[in-house]
Amino acid sequence: MEQLRWGTPDKLRGLLCELVSWHSMTLTEGEREFPGKVQEMLRDLQYFRDNPNNLGLNEADLGRRFLTALYKQKDVKDTIVLISHFDTVNTEEYGDLQPFAYQPEELTKLLFDRIDELHSDAQVDLLSGQYLFGRGTMDMKMGLAMHMGLLEKASVEKWPINLLLLTVPDEEVNSSGMRAAIPKLLELKEEHCFHYKLFLNGEPVFTQEPGDRSYYIYSGSIGKIMPSALFYGKETHVGEPLSGISAPYIASFLTQRMEWNLSLQENVMGESTPLPVTLQQKDLRLEYSVQTPYRSAALYNVFLMKRKAEEIMEKFEIIAQEAAMACNQSYQGVCLKQSVKPVGEVRVLRFEDLQSHAIQKFGRELVEKVKAEVQANFNWDDREKSLRIADSLMIECQELAPAIVLMFAPPYYPAVNSSDDLLVNNCFKYLKEKGLEKFALPVKQVHFFNGISDLSYVNYQDDGKGWTAFKVNSPVWGSSYTIPFDEMAQLQAPVLNVGPFGKDAHRRTERLHMKNAFEEVPALVEGMIKMISSSRNKIP
Ligand SMILES: [Zn+2]
Repeated sequence: MEQLRWGTPDKLRGLLCELVSWHSMTLTEGEREFPGKVQEMLRDLQYFRDNPNNLGLNEADLGRRFLTALYKQKDVKDTIVLISHFDTVNTEEYGDLQPFAYQPEELTKLLFDRIDELHSDAQVDLLSGQYLFGRGTMDMKMGLAMHMGLLEKASVEKWPINLLLLTVPDEEVNSSGMRAAIPKLLELKEEHCFHYKLFLNGEPVFTQEPGDRSYYIYSGSIGKIMPSALFYGKETHVGEPLSGISAPYIASFLTQRMEWNLSLQENVMGESTPLPVTLQQKDLRLEYSVQTPYRSAALYNVFLMKRKAEEIMEKFEIIAQEAAMACNQSYQGVCLKQSVKPVGEVRVLRFEDLQSHAIQKFGRELVEKVKAEVQANFNWDDREKSLRIADSLMIECQELAPAIVLMFAPPYYPAVNSSDDLLVNNCFKYLKEKGLEKFALPVKQVHFFNGISDLSYVNYQDDGKGWTAFKVNSPVWGSSYTIPFDEMAQLQAPVLNVGPFGKDAHRRTERLHMKNAFEEVPALVEGMIKMISSSRNKIP
């Protein structure tokens, strides 16, 4: 038999270090180059030399691309999609060790001389010799390395199942790679009459609490959405504060109520979402002035398990109405004491209402022009653009002020879960049994991967209402941000995440457990795929 290039733990370690050495921080040149390099590497395998068309580089956005690599067996329809992202977060926190952040072997050696700089858990792990440090080792180039190894082995041993490796950019920021890949997955499905059995991601295992050494597999992925608000007050001079109402004053009432709001926490199957928190609250004015600030904005982070955009907008609206009522009462109380006539009552409206008001007033063309002007500013990201579009429309519709305009700012990661799926349950049973038997590894199931992942986009179940609320209340929808909801709804296959164990993703002590990553997990996933392919007639 042909020698496997990535068939042993040592070889996988070498592959991982090479993938890590290709800098691919989100939004850098390295991220743009990365998938081409992986393609070159795969092209060297005998299977892809014989089937060069099974490799494909596809456009995402901003010159970034995603890679598909297909191992296909004749007359087999069952297909497992192996998902990974190849972008990493930045390396600033490494300080003077930054040049070594992408050289795991060197970095791990260097850290011995600076062990005092590490926190105690990382010190213990370094001394144990069981961990490899470096940016992207855990999150998540090891997932990609493992998938490459599996693809090679399947093609050499001719496993009776199709494997589609998909590796994408931009997971750490907006998931534009995965959102662009969805139509491609549908296209391949139609072209080859695939039956997608499973979307298998290889994101790393996160500890549930400090010191936790359990090995988790995830049968779902937590969702995230950002209800956001533009606060539009009435301007005045600081000398006459009650002749206006400032935006920070209005904002304070809503932010008080959104932060840690228990009605926005979900509890599903014994797991709960972290509470909502304010991600940003700011003035939209760019310079100091003695005119009171009358336009400001806030972004709130809300995690999801079962809820969709529509339900969040309904709850957000109720909370905002309570906030407006409290704000009005408080303001009117002061006006009464000071014998001043209030400037009006703060109202709450959704972005969709503001937009239809503006269309009625000026026509659709002008509204589109306002949006296009904001979109033309390349220094603004999608969050800033969302706020600025609402702001520009409010400037033209001041009869609505003072007001709180509710909207969604990107990104939106729908929650996804396959805990009830028979195949996923069989996979869990298999991993649990074999983990213990072969490696004395206690495997536990978690229903929602808590680190946000691209699995959010592969399996969306909804009657259409939940996403309509998102579209119509996202100011940048259809121009700089879209989610292929229709295509996602057509990709009905269960999701599962089985990845290597590591610690401190996104921190300078990011590290990967080597035995788990190079031996245990690849062997378990291989066995699991073989189990799926051999039982494909038994499991519907
Ligand atoms: Zn990741």
